[in-house]
Amino acid sequence: MPEYSISQLDNFEECPRQYKFKYVDRISRYEEGVEAFLGQRFHDTMEWLYGERAFRVVPLEEVLEYYERNWAEKWHSEVKIRKEGRTPDDYRLMGRRFIEDYYKRHYPFDEGRVLGLERFIRFPLDREGRYRCKGIIDRLMLAPDGTFEVHDYKTGSNLPEQEELDEDSQLALYQIGVQKLWSEAKEVRLVWHLVAFDVEMRSSRTPEALEKLEAELEGLIDRIEAEREYAPHESALCDWCAYQDLCPAKKQKAGEKP
Ligand code: SF4
Repeated sequence: MPEYSISQLDNFEECPRQYKFKYVDRISRYEEGVEAFLGQRFHDTMEWLYGERAFRVVPLEEVLEYYERNWAEKWHSEVKIRKEGRTPDDYRLMGRRFIEDYYKRHYPFDEGRVLGLERFIRFPLDREGRYRCKGIIDRLMLAPDGTFEVHDYKTGSNLPEQEELDEDSQLALYQIGVQKLWSEAKEVRLVWHLVAFDVEMRSSRTPEALEKLEAELEGLIDRIEAEREYAPHESALCDWCAYQDLCPAKKQKAGEKP
């Protein structure tokens, strides 16, 4: 039985055809947008900062040096900048600002105990183990009040509303995993760091909400496994799709045979 990540499940809902290209046919298209590249550098820096925190509080200058080194080492010619007139330096400096703001807000990083950094989890949704999920938690923490916390960094330029986060399935799924994997995790808090705005937002889920999500995800997995057509679903996301040249919907528009 395959294991599903939340991005995989979301991808199927967004466009079954793109899902097929990516997860069924496994056609790899290496294309990285500069926003994703920046996000990954921010995640790398946080992982390093909190890893070091077990030994010392790293000064801001050193954190920024790590970020700059990591950016330079990982940069490659395939990173795509779609916004006209923007340069790699614009984004690199933006990432620096995110780190400076985050550092000032959280210094000296003693808001709990680190339980895991970029922690990979895999777990069954149901008792029989038919529906299996996986994910990577940016940072798993134990708060001073004994609550487990699932922390997630977002570097995007969209500030979600509280209602959106209260409905968010990614961290809710991670909560299901955490509570299945650690019996100590009686209470779980979900925390988003919206670093482009220097804003932190929180949410929690009732057991009923988690049961409802489990049932929905099991239904979605059933649909995926029964799917044979993988119809294209055009949306604003098509502009970012790496499979446009293979997509029958795009070919039809261009007058080619699908
Ligand atoms: S171009 Fe659009 S419709 Fe076609 S596969 Fe990509 S996301 Fe789906």
